[in-house]
Amino acid sequence: MRASAVYALAIHAPISIFAIVGAYMLGIDLPTFLVSVFLIQTVGISVGFHRYFSHKGFETSELMKIVMGYLGTLAIIGGPISWSLVHRQHHKHSDTDLDPHSPKHGFVHSAYSWVYTFNVTPKMLASVKDLYKDNITLTIEKLSFILPYVTLVIAYFLSPVVCASIALAMFTVFLMETSLNCLFHSPTGKVYNSALLSPVFGGSCLHKNHHESYSVNFSKAWYQLDTGYWIIKLIRK
Ligand SMILES: [Zn+2]
Ligand SMILES: [Zn+2]
Repeated sequence: MRASAVYALAIHAPISIFAIVGAYMLGIDLPTFLVSVFLIQTVGISVGFHRYFSHKGFETSELMKIVMGYLGTLAIIGGPISWSLVHRQHHKHSDTDLDPHSPKHGFVHSAYSWVYTFNVTPKMLASVKDLYKDNITLTIEKLSFILPYVTLVIAYFLSPVVCASIALAMFTVFLMETSLNCLFHSPTGKVYNSALLSPVFGGSCLHKNHHESYSVNFSKAWYQLDTGYWIIKLIRK
């Protein structure tokens, strides 16, 4: 079975089910949920997995690398190397048959089912050789299978409601990330921005700008709030 499918069945599916059942049975603490969504989506994915690990858009401390890598794994979509491998393929082959999650092949494929058909080739592995060479990044990648579970177990002993809130935040960020694949690319190959949703997604919705320029700052106008870039300005060396 393909690695992305194993991850989906072993990590994503059980935690997603727990998130829904847990929210219903244990309840939700709204501040914990909102802070967790911000930390996972903005710091973990938009700043960490996307702009730091995948695009190497800025330099930061080893401690921030660990923090961003850990938070990114809580989006239950893999580790920093596997995420970057897919993302680098996406940029290299945007909206072609080689794009791993293009909506060209349908909404469901783009949002989710691509993980069951995506086949990692030696050439793709070579594209993330730089990340494999870094020990901290490699360790986070290997631990990405257990970090979400460890986090939820520790949170459960602190408070079942906190645990359920973090699990729902993990599932929510997963949905936000997968929606980017199918809502900001069209089946005909167009790419879009959404200034309205941008602050919620940590700047990731300024997707057209990102494809056009590769600047670490995704904003090109005063009304396009790239909250991820605000974080980068605080943590970059
Ligand atoms: Zn990118
Ligand atoms: Zn894209």
